[in-house]
Amino acid sequence: MKILTFDIEDWFHIIQKYPDDILDKWDNYEVRIHHSMDMIFKVLEDNNVKATFFILGYIARKHPEIVKKIHNLGYEVAAHSDMHKAAYLQSREEYKKDLTDCINSLENITGEKVLSYRAPGFSIKKQNVSAFEVLNELGIKYDASIFPATREDGGFDDFSESTPSIIKYKGIKIKEFPMSVNTAFGRRFTVTGGGYFRFFPYRWMRNMIENSDYTMTYFHPRDFDPKQPMLDGLSLKRKFKSYYNLSKSYIKFKQMIHDFDFIDMRSANNLIDWENVPIVDLSRYS
Ligand SMILES: [Zn+2]
Repeated sequence: MKILTFDIEDWFHIIQKYPDDILDKWDNYEVRIHHSMDMIFKVLEDNNVKATFFILGYIARKHPEIVKKIHNLGYEVAAHSDMHKAAYLQSREEYKKDLTDCINSLENITGEKVLSYRAPGFSIKKQNVSAFEVLNELGIKYDASIFPATREDGGFDDFSESTPSIIKYKGIKIKEFPMSVNTAFGRRFTVTGGGYFRFFPYRWMRNMIENSDYTMTYFHPRDFDPKQPMLDGLSLKRKFKSYYNLSKSYIKFKQMIHDFDFIDMRSANNLIDWENVPIVDLSRYS
């Protein structure tokens, strides 16, 4: 099973930690998302592939036409928070308000209930597993926020599964679609999104996908925009991870979509025998 997902945000949403007055800055930055969205739509249409789009509430209010187009083309509209702030940096109340704002902004456009969610930067970690209670309260049934490996920021390194699982937490259950991971050189990492997608040669990636039963992806519009400005104040490591090899990523992406059969999360949900997936009880982290 290979699932195609996108996190829909602009070039400047690469951070999950920022000062409170960020909105003024964001509103004055150049908007670059539209061209990349057209590139994404084209690949999906050319290959007749469906995908899940985790969209920021900020983007839904600024560019409602993007959400409309995603919805009208029959792709899944899902939530990616309102303001791209790390989930673990917020109090429960702040987190709930932010996600409510996002869901409302999306549902106002589509008229349909949002059922799927991914936290910005995979920011549900051991310390904030209570986020799953909030997801449950807001009617989220499918989560894709778990990155079962060590990450610079976010990541749940001792989450035991890297295939679809049921998360149990204080009497609630949520269907989890974790990021898929590959192991090499004693490390767990993913090649189907982020810096490693751009770093590895395509034939390596293709091999890893071929040899996996489950592949989850995450791409952003900015991944296909080599001319985007570089955000100020990033560490060298972060700059490398965010901007290395951008000029090659669209070609690689197109090749990957052409070579494999990808589906969206809704279709994956229908194909999975949920009675027989691993159950991960997170209550011990509370
Ligand atoms: Zn994001």
